Formats: sequence, structure tokens, C-alpha cells
Amino acid sequence: MSKIILTGDRPTGRLHVGHYVGSLRRRVELQNSGEFDKIFIMIADAQALTDNADNPEKIRQNVIEVALDYLSVGLDPAKSNLFIQSQISELTELTFFYMNLVTVSRLQRNPTVKAEIQMRNFEASIPVGFFTYPISQASDITAFKATTVPVGEDQLPMLEQTKEIVRKFNSVYGETLVEPEILLPENEACLRLPGTDGKAKMSKSLGNCIYLSDTEEDVRAKVMSMYTDPEHIKITDPGKLEGNTVFTYLDAFSKPEHFAEFLPEYNNLDELKEHYQRGGLGDVKVKKFLNNVLQDELAPIRARRAEFEKDIPEVYNILKRGSDVAREAAAETLAEVKRAMKINYFEDSALIEEQSKKYSR
Ligand code: ATP
Ligand code: MG
Repeated sequence: MSKIILTGDRPTGRLHVGHYVGSLRRRVELQNSGEFDKIFIMIADAQALTDNADNPEKIRQNVIEVALDYLSVGLDPAKSNLFIQSQISELTELTFFYMNLVTVSRLQRNPTVKAEIQMRNFEASIPVGFFTYPISQASDITAFKATTVPVGEDQLPMLEQTKEIVRKFNSVYGETLVEPEILLPENEACLRLPGTDGKAKMSKSLGNCIYLSDTEEDVRAKVMSMYTDPEHIKITDPGKLEGNTVFTYLDAFSKPEHFAEFLPEYNNLDELKEHYQRGGLGDVKVKKFLNNVLQDELAPIRARRAEFEKDIPEVYNILKRGSDVAREAAAETLAEVKRAMKINYFEDSALIEEQSKKYSR
């Protein structure tokens, strides 16, 4: 069986370091591993509109931002199809058929959707489109017969929902769709990177992000004002690691080489943590180190972005070419789905014959 990747992001803002460690970094590794037959990377504008219907300009502006972020982290259009969700109408058609296989109560149980409804204060007025976006995500994944979906932890319930739809579809209409596997980050700190304010998740919608396209100075300022241990007041005080965002980021980003280069008095992160817990290590020193680590990772990304920014029409061309390839793949699956559901009247000669017989008495 082919190995196929589908994953994507909502164009609700520029991409941040949470996206990077949660999914982007892995995607680039997988892309360059050469182990995959096809890779589809989707800018989920239609999904973003489900909770931004009154602000289409925001989505329109951010499509190019996300595309630039993709290219800047090393997604390569020669290896990965970068495409825009709304340009593939087949996805909407699949969603309409899958809706019949999912109950309202099942959607209500989705913990990510529940949390997002709360965060957006939607309790009494949830747009139907937003409520059903897990079904639309199942269409995105199955349309490309994806076997592998590299995403952050918040996507686990979506993958579960998708698998249920695949099983239900295949059992009712015959073996047609492929069950995908989620690929979560191996490093625990990357599953759900917290925001710079220490809030549970770095998220475009919460304004607590370090963006991939932030300037060197922006990154430094954000790191220096990051949330640490509120009880670690004097340098000599023992410090706590739990809930200490600076250390979570070091877990996500630092490599042994960083110590040799920027903080040679420690061999590794364990030694630094141990000193912090014992007392005698100030937050400023740790933050300065984190800043160096982040700058080291982000500098090449920033430089690549600047190159792609010089030719914006070409970036749109990349998306157009990727969308053309994606449409072809999705159309093939949709045709198979319709055949399985027996809503392929005009290509079904047996049906036409059967009906003719019925009326030729
Ligand atoms: P929005 O607030 O509009 O939902 P978002 O910041 O949550 O935006 P998405 O486009 O919903 O971003 O998510 C894109 C991908 O990035 C998903 O795979 C998601 O799991 C991952 N991701 C998003 N935020 C984080 C994070 N803080 N840590 C790890 N992965 C993340
Ligand atoms: Mg999200």
C-alpha cells in the first residue's frame, strides 16, 4: 500500500513555534526521508471560515503567510503538494455524505471541539459548520487516502473521529476508504507547547505566540518576558520545573550542541535543571540561553522566508499547482465513494438495464 501524508493548518495567523515542534519540523523530516509516495499539505481556509465567517479578509490575508511559513521551514514543492482546501470542492461533497454516518451526540463528545467552543464563547450559538468540522477533517484525510497524519496532540480526537467514519463507511458501503494513523511528536514538550504566558497551549487565537517570522528582537523580548516559576524570586531560591514555560521550551528545542556553544559550564539540560531546582541559578541566565537556542533554530527559517517574500506571485503559483494535483487525487476518491454508495447512475449500465426490464412488460 502507498504511504501518503496529509496534514495542514488553519490560515488564522502566521505559524508559530508550537506548530513547528508539534508538526512542521516532523513534516520536513518525513518529506526528506523519501519514505512517502505522496505528501499533501493543506492550508485549511474553509475550516478557518467555520469560526471566522464574518472576517473572510483575515483568512484571505493569512493564506500567503502560512504558505511562506511552509516554504521557510523547508517544505519543498518538488516533494510536497501545498494546496488550498477551498479550491478542492470534492472535499465538501465527501463531507456531505459522511455527515450521514455521524450522530450529533458523537460530535458533542469531542473534547477538542468542546474546549474550542468554550474558548470562543460559542456556547449558545455554535455555527453548524464549526460544530461539524471534525467531519470535514475526515474528508480531508480520506480524500487523499492518507496513511499518516503528523499533528499535535489536540488532533487526536479528530483522528479518532476519522477512523470511525472510515470503519462505518467501509462496513456499510464496502471497503473503499483507508484508515489513517496519527503521528504525534515523540518529545512530550512538543505535544502541546504552552504559550509564552504559561497558558495550556500556544495558539494564534490566544495571542501568546512566538512566530516563526518574528524578528530577532521580537523573539528576544518575548523570551525575556516569559512565564517561569512565580515563587523563584531570589537567585538563591530553589526553582520549580513543573509549569515553568522556559524549561518546557528548552525541552522542546535545546540540543546538546547548544550547551557547548552557548552555555559550556553545563553539559546538558539535566545539569541545568538540577542547578535550577537546587537554587543559585537565575531566570535571566536561563532565558538568555533559551533565546540563543531559539535564534539558532529560527535564523535560517527567517532567511529562507525573506527569499520567498521576494517573489509572491511564484508562491501563489506553487499553491495553484499543488491544488491541481490535490483536486485530481480527491476526485478519484470521490468517484470511488459515489460508486460504493451507488450514486453513480450514469455509469451504472446494470441499473439502467434493470429499470428498462421493469418497464418493458
Ligand atoms: P487556531 O487557534 O486558529 O485553531 P492553532 O494555533 O490552534 O490555530 P491550528 O491551525 O489549529 O493552529 O493547528 C495546526 C497544527 O499545529 C495541528 O497539527 C496542531 O496540532 C498543531 N499545533 C497547534 N498549536 C500547537 C501547540 N501549541 N503545540 C503543538 N502543536 C500545536
Ligand atoms: Mg487549532
